[in-house]
Amino acid sequence: MTVLPATPTSHSTSLALRSENVCRHYQMGETLIRAVDGVSFEVRSGDFVALLGASGSGKSSLLNLIAGLDRPTSGAVVVQGRNLADLSREELAKHRLHTVGMVFQSFNLIPSMTLLENVELPMRFAEIERGKREGLAREALDRVGLAQRAAHRPSQLSGGEQQRASLARALINRPQVLLADEPTGNLDSRNGTEIMNFIREFNRSLGMTIIMVTHERALAERYVRRMIFLADGRLVSEELNKDVATAAGKTDGGAP
Ligand code: ADP
Ligand code: MG
Repeated sequence: MTVLPATPTSHSTSLALRSENVCRHYQMGETLIRAVDGVSFEVRSGDFVALLGASGSGKSSLLNLIAGLDRPTSGAVVVQGRNLADLSREELAKHRLHTVGMVFQSFNLIPSMTLLENVELPMRFAEIERGKREGLAREALDRVGLAQRAAHRPSQLSGGEQQRASLARALINRPQVLLADEPTGNLDSRNGTEIMNFIREFNRSLGMTIIMVTHERALAERYVRRMIFLADGRLVSEELNKDVATAAGKTDGGAP
């Protein structure tokens, strides 16, 4: 059954990404590891999606292909209308800088830099004027409740605070798509909930498309609209949380 949103928005009619029979195989000596093995799916703009599956099922490999951190061995990944296979190295770097934002289980902040410098870094790569950067970085830190910690280094912060800083960094160039790989995997449940609430807020108030990898089904059920299950590099099933509202509305089905 298809339930259309009461007030359709432009979000609900456009696709954020699409993969077509995408594969990422690794040749390890004699063995071929099919980390991602023929995955086709679509995610519409403003949706909140979880990729679920056991350890080794290919979740991170698939997310890295969408991020443009890695290239498929075959098949296509189209993000915001652009086939990543057609992009030059420079264009792919721009994709990573502007189209997608990433957060990782292990935060990946640069230890020698303050939070402010960490959050400013993607703007430096994006060649945003120096004079504008500090204000924008402070705003982003403020959004995640870290305004008072701007001058601190990551080691001076708790895990939850570090992940909040990495969220601020992921958002700084206003990406359309946020990719999160086990963002709560290193956090206790209180901090994990706080991070998930921020991510949900980015979806609802900024209309960001969220694709989150997790192996925790209960977490996905609380927050995401759509759960995609992987096993052995393949998409095996999909479930919808009908009560979860996202920027894309509260409809069933993957794509319009
Ligand atoms: P998940 O995130 O679901 O735990 P991964 O995507 O990390 O799974 O891994 C999927 C499979 O691909 C695993 O068998 C893993 O060992 C393998 N794999 C991942 N990255 C590499 C790599 N760089 N070289 C070889 N094998 C890899
Ligand atoms: Mg993983």
